Formats: sequence, C-alpha cells, structure tokens
Amino acid sequence: MLSHPASPRLKCARCGYEEPLGKPLLRCPRCQGDWLDVVYDYEYVTRTWSESLPRRPFNMWRYWELLPLRDSANRVTMGEGGTPLLHATNLGMMLGCPHIYVKDERQGPTGSFKDRQASLSLSVMKELEVNEAVVASTGNVAISYSAYSALAGIKMWAFVTSLVPAEKMREAAIYGSDVVKVTSTYDQTKKVAAEFARRQGLFIDRGIRSIAARESMKTVAFEIAEQLPIFLGTGSTDWRTPDWYIQAVSGGMGPVGVWKGYQELLEMGLVDRMPRLACIQAEGCAPMVWSFQKGLEEAEPVLNPHTRVITVATGSPGPAYTFLSKVVREHGGAFEAVSDEETFRALHVMAKLDGISMEPAAALAFAGLFKLLNKGVIRRDEVVVVNCSGHTFPVEKHLLGEDWARTVEMPAERPIVEEGLLGTLEQLDRSVSRIAILEDDVKAARLLRRILQARGDYQIFEARDGRAGLELIRKERPDLVLLDLMMPEVDGFGVLEAMRADEELEGIPVVVVTAQELTASERTRLSGQIRMLLQKGSFTDEDLLQEVLDAIEGKEHG
Ligand SMILES: *Cc1c(COP(=O)(O)O)cnc(C)c1O
Ligand SMILES: [Zn+2]
Repeated sequence: MLSHPASPRLKCARCGYEEPLGKPLLRCPRCQGDWLDVVYDYEYVTRTWSESLPRRPFNMWRYWELLPLRDSANRVTMGEGGTPLLHATNLGMMLGCPHIYVKDERQGPTGSFKDRQASLSLSVMKELEVNEAVVASTGNVAISYSAYSALAGIKMWAFVTSLVPAEKMREAAIYGSDVVKVTSTYDQTKKVAAEFARRQGLFIDRGIRSIAARESMKTVAFEIAEQLPIFLGTGSTDWRTPDWYIQAVSGGMGPVGVWKGYQELLEMGLVDRMPRLACIQAEGCAPMVWSFQKGLEEAEPVLNPHTRVITVATGSPGPAYTFLSKVVREHGGAFEAVSDEETFRALHVMAKLDGISMEPAAALAFAGLFKLLNKGVIRRDEVVVVNCSGHTFPVEKHLLGEDWARTVEMPAERPIVEEGLLGTLEQLDRSVSRIAILEDDVKAARLLRRILQARGDYQIFEARDGRAGLELIRKERPDLVLLDLMMPEVDGFGVLEAMRADEELEGIPVVVVTAQELTASERTRLSGQIRMLLQKGSFTDEDLLQEVLDAIEGKEHG
C-alpha cells in the first residue's frame, strides 16, 4: 500500500510545524530547526493493534504502522527485532534482585541492536531509490549496514575509526562494503565521512538525526512492554513498563528512540507510566554524565576519549544529551559512568553467572546496574530491564586478503589505545583446591559451585545438612568449607562447634554464606570462628572468589 494508513507526519520539535511524511527534510522549513520527529494517527494504530497484533510474527515489523516506511514492499528484512527477554536468575540470586531482565539484542542478524536501525534505514534508502550511501561508525553500525545493504543491493561506504577492532572491520568488509579506516577519534571520523559524501554527492546516514534510526529503536520499548507481563506472573497480560530501563550510551540514538517508544505506548493507553532511564557511559568518554553533574543543558564534549570500549567512544553527543538530560530531570533516572575495569568485570560476571557473553559496550550497562544498586539509586525489588546490546561474535579471519580496507591517515593527537579486552582481568591460581559446600538449598549450592568452577579447577564436595556435612569434612579434609547457617539436622553453628572441638578439623577455614540478617548474639557466636561472613544478595562473586583464594593460599583476612 502506498499511502501509509497511520498517516505519518513530520513534526518539528522546536516550533511544532507539521507536514505529511514525504521526502526527508533536513531542516524545518519554518524555523530551520534540525530535530524532526514523526507523529502518527495513534487512535487508528491502537484499534488496529488490539485486533491484529496477536496474529503477527514476533519481529520488529509487527509494529510497522508506527514505522515511517510508506510502501511495505521496500522492507529490507532478515528477521531483526523480536529478541528474547531473559530473566537473569543467577545474577538476581547473587544480588538479591528478583526482577532483572535482559533484552537480548545479541540475537539480531549481525549480533547487535543496530540491526533494527539498519533494517529500517536501508528500507527507507530503498524507498528513496538511493544506490550508494556513506555511514560512519564505531563498529556495529558498519557491520549491520553492510549486511543489510548487501541484501538491498545498495553500495555502502563504511567509515570507522582505526581504533575499532580489526575483526569488526573485517566483518563489515566481508559483506562487500568499502571500509575506510580513519586514524582519529570517532567524532573526526564522522566529519571525514560527511565531507566524502558531500564531495561525491552520496547519501549519508545522519546518525542520531536520522528519523529512521530513532524510529526503529521504539520497537525495543514495544517488545519489552509486550514481553514483561509474562514474567511478572500477575496473571494479567496488560502491557507493562519496567521501573528502570538501562542502556549503554554513546551517541544516544538508542535511549532517545526507546524513550519515544514508551511515550507512544503511553499515548495509546497501552501502558500506564514511563520507566526511569539509566544512561551508562565509559568513564573515559562520559560527556553526558559529566555535563549532567554540572547541570548543563547542552553537552560539553570530551575531546580526547580514552576508553578501551571503542563502541561507545562518542565524545560529542550533541542533541541527544539535550533530549536525555531533560527526560532524566523530568522523570527521574540516572546518568552513570563506569570504568573499563568495572565493565570487563561485569562482562565476565554475566558470562559466568547466566551464560550471557556480550561485547564490552553491552557490559557497560551491567556495570552501571551494579553501581546504581550499590548506591541505592535502583532498589533491589524493582523491575529492571537491561539492554544487552551486542555479542562477542566469532570472526572469520582467512577469507579476505590484505587489502580489505583503505586508510585515511590523520595526524595523531594522542596515543593509540591498547587492544586486548581481558587484559585487566587478573590471572588466578589454577591449582586444584578442595572445597566443601554445606548448603541445603540446591539452587544456591549449584550457583556457588558454578561460580567457583568458572574460575578454577576446584574439586567440590556438597552436603545438604549439617550432619552429612560433618561426615564429609571428616572424610575429605577440604581446604575450605562454605557453610550455610540455616540447615536441617545440625545447623551451621553446630557444624562450627563440632569442627572447633575436633583437633584435626579445627584448622580448616570456614566462610559462612547466609541468607538472613544475623542477630547480635549470633554474630558474637561466629566471631573468631570463621574467616568471613558473606550475606547472600549483597556479595558479588568476586568477593566470594577473593575469599576462597585467600583462604586456600593461607592469607590472613585483612
Ligand atoms: C551503538 C552501540 C552502543 C551505543 O549506542 P548509542 O545509541 O549510539 O548511544 C552501545 N553498545 C553497543 C553494543 C552498540 O552497538
Ligand atoms: Zn520548526
């Protein structure tokens, strides 16, 4: 159908000027403002969705009435969107947060949330009869646009900063794009790309200013709202907004678009409130976080980004900050910065705990979650959705020869950031150690076992009650005992007393892992008897591991 039934109209964010969606405008004809939105006939969409949505396949295009493509025959699609919402059960158990959900954007056709953007943007390009286009990227857009442009038959020039891992550049080249490496920052790379497009008279993707890019992101909000009720077990199938939506932020296209999605759902009466937005940036490139702390309305750029998380190295966020800072001021929410070290640790924690391996840029959002929980900004009982925005994917290395990219040499202004993702993760002792876990809760025991085994060659023994536990300790003589206090038969206190009374067991270090708050007298009973008390729900697996390692190496706890 050539006329879009939901009558999309362009609307200027500054002066409110409207006209039917036709050729894309770069500026508002009335006030020259460069932030143009699309609005739709929401009553029509609400009516249509209530009737037909249940029968549509679960992918991004099930919401096509709220996407700005006039002719559906122009869709360039590979089943993007419709990604699972995962319940992070092990992480939740560790942190004492029952409602952490992961929007698994790794499961897009090229492994990041950019696939939504690429699908809609390339569809729009096809509709505009574009044959050749230019895009600037920190990696994932280059890959995703390259894949979709192959499908669409559009020639793509992908400009990337030379800091992007070579594996990612190669991935873009495999799809047949011309990859151009610019030896400078991402902000400079964007300028070089724009200049190239201008000289060659080519279509250039406008990033955050592109309507298609932002509109595609709304579908993340739509899907989450549709998926959440299934998990919350209230019996209601009404769409639901999470209390918090967390995303790693570079240029800000993601959260700006997702926010608009929630606004439209609210306008259509499909949800009853907005979430709070947490925007997480890398400490070495966090212009939004610092600008917000200073109370600025316009972002102050970071001129020399310094982070190993290249995907999020936008130093100059421009209009996205103006938009997002207003959202956070008006609706609550947070801007938070995390270090590269915290990011890589979060990456490892998510892989070990819930089997979700992600790229560092995605792990940034989880590091942000941990920080906001620790600060008490996010409460442990709140419903939190984290956008897991990209995969660590395996990359083909042998297909292309040496000349798969061109290089634009720019004068170096600062040292090139070192490569190697896991460099900061400390090397741990791999010698076999024997650990006994005395824990009656099978799930908790399994989690402890998994944490330990993910990190070293531990030989692990388990017992479900104190009596069996004591027998086990006598027989196996472990190097360390992890002890739960509340157990049937003989409880943890009983086990401790029995061990202290036995000369041969007395020297075995004990770490108590407990779910409940202890009374003062219980604490006194334990003091001097154990190495450490770990409260379930408040320790991280790093705490546990450090304790285990110290105990095994015979270090005193300090
Ligand atoms: C693009 C990207 C980001 C940053 O997204 P913006 O919307 O540009 O802020 C973060 N993480 C991953 C994996 C990305 O691909
Ligand atoms: Zn205007």
